Amino acid sequence: MHHFSYIDGRLHAEAVPLEAIAAQVGTPCYVYSTATLTRHYRAFADAFADLDATICYAMKANGNRAVLRLLTGLGAGVDVVSGGEMGLALAAGAPADRIVFSGVGKTKDEMAAALNAGVHQINVESEPELDALDAVARELGVRAPVAIRVNPDVDAATHAKITTGKAENKFGIEWTSARTVFRRAMTLEGIAVHGVAVHIGSQILDLAPFEAAFRKVRDLVALLRADGVTIDRLDLGGGLGVPYHADDHTPPPPSAYAAVVARTVGDLGCALTIEPGRAIAGNAGVLVSRVTYLKEGMTRTFAIVDAAMNDLMRPALYDAWHDIWPVVEPSAGVERHPIDVVGPVCESSDTFARDRSLPPLAADDLVAFMTAGAYGAVMSGQYNGRPLVPEVLVDGDRFHVVRRRPTLTEMASLEDLPPWLTDAR
Ligand SMILES: *Cc1c(COP(=O)(O)O)cnc(C)c1O
Repeated sequence: MHHFSYIDGRLHAEAVPLEAIAAQVGTPCYVYSTATLTRHYRAFADAFADLDATICYAMKANGNRAVLRLLTGLGAGVDVVSGGEMGLALAAGAPADRIVFSGVGKTKDEMAAALNAGVHQINVESEPELDALDAVARELGVRAPVAIRVNPDVDAATHAKITTGKAENKFGIEWTSARTVFRRAMTLEGIAVHGVAVHIGSQILDLAPFEAAFRKVRDLVALLRADGVTIDRLDLGGGLGVPYHADDHTPPPPSAYAAVVARTVGDLGCALTIEPGRAIAGNAGVLVSRVTYLKEGMTRTFAIVDAAMNDLMRPALYDAWHDIWPVVEPSAGVERHPIDVVGPVCESSDTFARDRSLPPLAADDLVAFMTAGAYGAVMSGQYNGRPLVPEVLVDGDRFHVVRRRPTLTEMASLEDLPPWLTDAR
């Protein structure tokens, strides 16, 4: 459930009309709802209240400082996947001892920064990474608190580009070598082995893959403990999906997911970490855009909008579906026609929707791309000289620009001419 709805015929974020935000901030812009973020975080917190669990929000879904501040203020820890995210999380005020550092390619500099900051846990994804972390920790005279990410080889039944727990994926240590790697880790002076980590993919709409993965983790914990390996933490990753499309079956609620966790690994005496990203931020955000032109061709009609693939990459990257809602509520019974909704970027993949059945649109109309709060603004870029899209946080009847649109001067200021080109014109 989210807090974007029509009030008196106009689409609102909570109590704020999107028209008012568009008028002040310009389009395209992302708009996030505090009530929705809060609701989703609380749903996880409540679901896991009876378990020894920490909810570490996966900030790669939406790393805006205001979003982080809101969620950490509610009690969330943070899952980070790079030194950059760690630095930004710390700068947003996230306590280091509630930060989990995941990711398949941490550099030694990133490891040293994490150890110096005192993060709660570093999730190791390969043997070479384990050795590198051991060396970095010994050099600093500390022991790195570690969970080892294993690849449970289960099929999360999601899009190929966002499945991570199959043997062919780059993530985690192969199931069959897990015991050997854990035993070796126990002998390393710079490593304090704490737990097993898994993360099987994203936008998962069924509990069965989670259940399969967590059962395998349970079996592994028994084997590891028999081997004399201490396991007092489990990191179960993120991955719970959100409804993007009316035909998607409704994803299971956090309470059902928590019930699977409880019955598979709840009795192992381990502190649990879960890392939801999309399920917290996904439908807490929309991308508001204005129709620039309506182009009627012989065979197709195009709505050319002022948002583009550089602002919201998911359709181009994953063929993802985003519902498109006109900001002015269509009258009941209005006829819908198939239309292509495209951006202005010079790429055919700059297409948000093909043959989408929509009420009539005209130039200057505002539309909202729904469920754009996760993997939206964080993936945006400046292709075609397009400034990073601003982000707005709504709370009740107030709103604030939490990332403004950079000026062209700011965009150009990172570039520099070599001296031999300075005078040549
Ligand atoms: C991406 C990621 C998450 C979050 O995934 P969602 O599908 O957004 O919940 C959690 N943990 C790790 C290690 C990740 O890479």
